[in-house]
Amino acid sequence: MDWSNWIDKKVYSRLKIVLPEFLNRSCELCLEINYDAGFICSSCEDSLPQAHYCCQTCAIPLPSQGRCGQCLHKKPAFDYSHSSFSYAHPIDNWLQRLKTKHRTEWAHKLASLMLNNAPNDLSQIDIFTFVPSTRWSLMKRGFNPGELIARELGRALNKPVMSKLVIRSHSRNQKELNRHQRINNVSEHFHPTRKKLTGEHVMLIDDVMTTGSTAHSMALLLKQSGANKVGVWCLARTPKH
Ligand SMILES: [Zn+2]
Ligand SMILES: [Zn+2]
Repeated sequence: MDWSNWIDKKVYSRLKIVLPEFLNRSCELCLEINYDAGFICSSCEDSLPQAHYCCQTCAIPLPSQGRCGQCLHKKPAFDYSHSSFSYAHPIDNWLQRLKTKHRTEWAHKLASLMLNNAPNDLSQIDIFTFVPSTRWSLMKRGFNPGELIARELGRALNKPVMSKLVIRSHSRNQKELNRHQRINNVSEHFHPTRKKLTGEHVMLIDDVMTTGSTAHSMALLLKQSGANKVGVWCLARTPKH
């Protein structure tokens, strides 16, 4: 039934916004009634930013299939990467809600989007892990956004999520540094722990992959601890190195 024919137009336009919210069935993006299972409707989900082609190793967007010049020049310590989305609107905005507005329910929402854009062959993965926060950022924020997402994915896919495989000491905020400084900064501040691995295929879960230097440092230590293969699965990849 088209309600707009017999309800005053103003009332109808208001109801269109309020009613789905009241019923908790509105799409987060278009605000239309959402009959799909997720927090956004399927047509909005289809329009989320994704690169057509990515580097097979570091997931940087490329004009065609293959590997980027940087990975061809020097292969990082991780074996492959998969980015579910590009770091652009609305993914960036939703991630900020989790990271800066402390709205932890967004870890579940973002993980549900990642599950719909997951890497192939998840059955090969033995364990999930995540990039540890520094003690300072954990104190400031109260949680590690990457850990929350990893735990959501682990629960949904029935994979163990291992923590404390690597520790991270206090370091300068990565945002303040250029690419070269970032690489040096992270390599100086990740340390191995006593936990040992025995040839596992580890999937490193991250929220955003920017230069890949954090993933590289983590993968290096995970392999030193005994991992056989390290993949990276991130929510979003920034478009440029
Ligand atoms: Zn929608
Ligand atoms: Zn690459």
